[in-house]
Amino acid sequence: AKVNNPYSGAKVYVNPEWSANAAAEPGGSRIANQPTGVWLDRTAAINGAGGKMGLRAHLDEALRQKGSGELVVQLVIYNLPGRDCSALASNGELGPTEIDKYKTQYIDPIAAILADSKYAGLRIVTTVEIDSLPNLVTNVTPRPTATPNCDVMKANGNYQKGVGYALNKLGAIGNVYNYVDAGHHGWLGWDDNFAPSAAMFKEAATTEGATLSDVHGFIVNTANYSALKEDNFSINDTVNGTSVRQSKWVDWNRYTDELSYAQAMRNQLVSIGFDSNIGMLIDTSRNGWGGAARPAGPGARTNVDTYVDGGRYDRRIHPGNWCNQAGAGLGERPKAAPAAGIDAYVWMKPPGESDGSSKEIPNDEGKGFDRMCDPTYEGNPRNNNNMSGALADAPISGQWFSAQFQELMKNAYPAL
Ligand code: BGC
Repeated sequence: AKVNNPYSGAKVYVNPEWSANAAAEPGGSRIANQPTGVWLDRTAAINGAGGKMGLRAHLDEALRQKGSGELVVQLVIYNLPGRDCSALASNGELGPTEIDKYKTQYIDPIAAILADSKYAGLRIVTTVEIDSLPNLVTNVTPRPTATPNCDVMKANGNYQKGVGYALNKLGAIGNVYNYVDAGHHGWLGWDDNFAPSAAMFKEAATTEGATLSDVHGFIVNTANYSALKEDNFSINDTVNGTSVRQSKWVDWNRYTDELSYAQAMRNQLVSIGFDSNIGMLIDTSRNGWGGAARPAGPGARTNVDTYVDGGRYDRRIHPGNWCNQAGAGLGERPKAAPAAGIDAYVWMKPPGESDGSSKEIPNDEGKGFDRMCDPTYEGNPRNNNNMSGALADAPISGQWFSAQFQELMKNAYPAL
């Protein structure tokens, strides 16, 4: 039987490949023994792409790390047809119509390996399709943020079918715990997006044979940098009679940080029929916002903007900026059951792995050049036409980016 919170009383798998990259950096040994996600980001990753460990190699190493105790292995299922429809940096290998390849060449082989009785003693957490379903709500016509690729994926239904198929196949395995991606507060925290996204998660989780009981929980903030907790202002504050919701930064969002968003999204999901025991994961790999620029207290009460901008930990130019953010730091270290409704803080995105290249770099992974990763870019409707805030000289997404790793350590909060 599955336990309520797989992270409780368990160690979490340290990916030796990420660990070696971290340990090779000056100062990196301070975090090289932290657990991070293993990304199955293309079909070839199952057997090991480009000389890297494949899924069985990771699970065998996990058995070794486990010893006689309990151990969680964190996998990222990330290969939908038409992947990353609102951006280019993480476009994948499968075209928009290749749902059958997704099922038979990607999900089925993963499910077959995970179901091997040899691995039955591991607690296998699968985070299912980061950055996918909410696009079908927020980045489609007639929204000003619509993209042609998201319109295509909305029309063909292959995101819902892919997620439903994955949840059904993986959820059927007795020691696999599915967590569906639920975006982040700076994406889904508005009324127009919040309940409709929850409804979209339910639609996907009841497609292709999946049922709500195949969902153990949800993960937030993997593709983003939002602060865990903004202590210097709250959504209910007013300045001279004006709500902080009217500040430029908050811009009518209902939430100011990931913890309040994750807990509220959990309640919403339970209210529409998900199991009342679902738990949330919050990715804290890059949302620390420490260092010299961290405000020591609330901003000046001159107006809502001075108040919010002076007090917020998140130092980004705009919360829609998602690529290799300058000034970002490591967040909370991975931890089980840190707050009500939260199964764990996790580092699913391995810190130091790029979000996308700063300029076009030819590659055979299908990855495009997204100007949100170019520090000279002046933005688009999804970041309200602001500068990208990205670090320069980044490699393509997933590759090691030493300068970013150093930036994350420098600005860690809690500090290292
Ligand atoms: C990339 C993947 C990579 C993952 C973790 C994603 O943005 O597209 O290839 O495995 O990040 O770094």
